[in-house]
Amino acid sequence: MSAAEKLGKIVENRLGSDPDKARGWLRAGWEAENVLFHIAPHRELLPADRYLQQLMMGTMLAPLRHPEESAMVSIFVPCELLQEAELIPYSPEAFSCYLSASFCESCLIQKAEETGISDTLCSYHRTFLGAAESGLLKAPKCVVYTNVTCDANLLTFRRMAEHYGVPSFYLEVPMTVSEASVDFVEKQMRDLKSFLERTTGKTISESALCDRVARSKLSLETFRLVQQKKADKYIPTDLVTPFYSALTGNLLLGSPEEEKYVEMALGDVQRAEKKKGKHIYWMHTIPFYSDAVKEKFLFQEEAQIVGDELSQVCTADFDPENPYRAMAKRLVTNAMNGPSRRRIDNGIRNAKDAGADGVIWFNHWGCKHTLGTAEIARRRFEEAGIPALVIDGDGCDRSKEGEGQISTRIGAFLEMLDRKEGRA
Ligand code: SF4
Repeated sequence: MSAAEKLGKIVENRLGSDPDKARGWLRAGWEAENVLFHIAPHRELLPADRYLQQLMMGTMLAPLRHPEESAMVSIFVPCELLQEAELIPYSPEAFSCYLSASFCESCLIQKAEETGISDTLCSYHRTFLGAAESGLLKAPKCVVYTNVTCDANLLTFRRMAEHYGVPSFYLEVPMTVSEASVDFVEKQMRDLKSFLERTTGKTISESALCDRVARSKLSLETFRLVQQKKADKYIPTDLVTPFYSALTGNLLLGSPEEEKYVEMALGDVQRAEKKKGKHIYWMHTIPFYSDAVKEKFLFQEEAQIVGDELSQVCTADFDPENPYRAMAKRLVTNAMNGPSRRRIDNGIRNAKDAGADGVIWFNHWGCKHTLGTAEIARRRFEEAGIPALVIDGDGCDRSKEGEGQISTRIGAFLEMLDRKEGRA
């Protein structure tokens, strides 16, 4: 049994009788891992990705160390205002990934389902709800959420605000991408500022906010450049790094830490060796625990995951001098908002940027808009000259079967890409 599995067992055994002790064990396990990331980072990872591991671990530890300084958010909420209010944001996708890596997801999903949550709800949300309702997670300062990009948000965050009795703020984003929609959300961003000032008692400085949004713009531009420069480079990677960059690129966008990460990544890619093997662009969440996916992509020279769509959902096309409008525009024009055509076009653009030889569209169980778009997306990628594979699975709940089919189908897909290259 691995150390992570032992930790999961300890947390599970304590959870029913003493959630405070369970939280203490979970925190101790994550603190130990955090120390390891600093003193013995994975040798095969490039420096930026080692830093990214530390950054993510610190962000996930925050709600365990100082819950009263944390805010529960849905992943695409623009977080610059929260950062200015000195709140640390965390989302179900991020936190549940870490719970799953610690083998806690199964007992937490069970807890959520015992309270009436349907098993058709996305497992990131079921795990997160189980953590809250079992007492593993303490109350945050507040809850901030938006309907972008899925209806699971509306259920989870309303329920969390009620469960903890903390203030909440809902950002309603119209599906139509237009100036009128940006106007509508801009007003809400201004209201969010007032809400955060009232909730935290802190005053948000307009000039500091402008600087922060300017930093967001620069970070988005630099990250796109990193992805473009990857096209003919070999970047050794694990399965979590592309997803980590999606999490920090949303939750920490605007922070000096995210700026440091993208600058380090630019340096790494400039120094990287020439391309080896196949470049695969990943659409949606990644089942990081899957042995089948590890076998094909974990530090493999034959094929690497060069990007994840969730790390590139918005462009830098906004004016930081008007920070409320800039954040509103980012939210309205988020690639996951509106018709699926927008999401697919964004994926094609970013896959081409990173020199993708193929795309994998991951149908995460319960993610209705991803499942519903899969076949159209596969066709559109193929029409754009990028072979695409659709696979089914679960990015968080490892009890879902399917390892055999994932291994066989990815293996056949990579062979097909080899044959295609041989013919070229
Ligand atoms: S995986 Fe899909 S259903 Fe789950 S939180 Fe993300 S977008 Fe929503």
